[in-house]
Amino acid sequence: VPGLYIVATPIGNLGDVTLRAVDVLSRCDRVACEDTRVTGKLLKHLGISKPMWRYDDHASERDREKLVDACRTQAVALVSDAGTPLVSDPGYRLVRDVREAGIAVTTLPGACAAIAGLTLSGLPNDRFLFAGFIPVKEKARADFLDDLAGIDATLIFYETGPRLLKSLTAIAEKWPDREVAVARELTKLHEECRAGTAAELAEHYGEHAPKGEIVLLVGPPAEQAPGGDPDALLREALATLKPS
Ligand code: SAM
Repeated sequence: VPGLYIVATPIGNLGDVTLRAVDVLSRCDRVACEDTRVTGKLLKHLGISKPMWRYDDHASERDREKLVDACRTQAVALVSDAGTPLVSDPGYRLVRDVREAGIAVTTLPGACAAIAGLTLSGLPNDRFLFAGFIPVKEKARADFLDDLAGIDATLIFYETGPRLLKSLTAIAEKWPDREVAVARELTKLHEECRAGTAAELAEHYGEHAPKGEIVLLVGPPAEQAPGGDPDALLREALATLKPS
């Protein structure tokens, strides 16, 4: 059936491709992907051969129009290099344009590093906020973290090995008491999840340079007792107790 199919692919372990993803990738007319080499490998692993179109961050409006047009008459599968398309990956403009053109769009959920990291971290997950990549420049990084400071939720970031230490150091300064987790190489051979304060983790990764792909998570701010300092509240309460 013609239209756009948003297809999640594995984030490391190739076993994490869904039955529905295999079905749609086998039967679609073409695959729109970020990098034809990366997606070519996945398709080859699945025994599938399809024409591929590059659709990445550099795609022009004209590229998008072409793809929207193709969706009118063809089944087009949109994939990214890994995980769920559109999550820190290209695609939302394409989805918007396809919807606006009145063409069918559907989604095939699957692996997503942010959610995999959250589930493994042991941090509260009733409320969470995915904030993408932390900016590299010092001032932008500080402003970015300040904006998130008051949010009562677990924060999820995407991170890279070379930048992890700077992010941990910045977090240690701003939020020394919050619980932090580093989830690395999820679903792969060297999967690791390490928790502690940002300072503890900075010390560890200062000595063991982190390799591979990383999700960085920061637990919610500690609950404030109503009225602030719990010790002060206790003292107040004790002061009102009269000896019998
Ligand atoms: N769309 C993808 C998803 O659904 O997770 C994310 C794409 S984003 C460009 C790539 C980032 O995702 C990496 O820098 C890393 O932070 C995170 N990531 C991807 N695969 C990962 C894995 N296996 N383990 C940990 N983090 C991963």
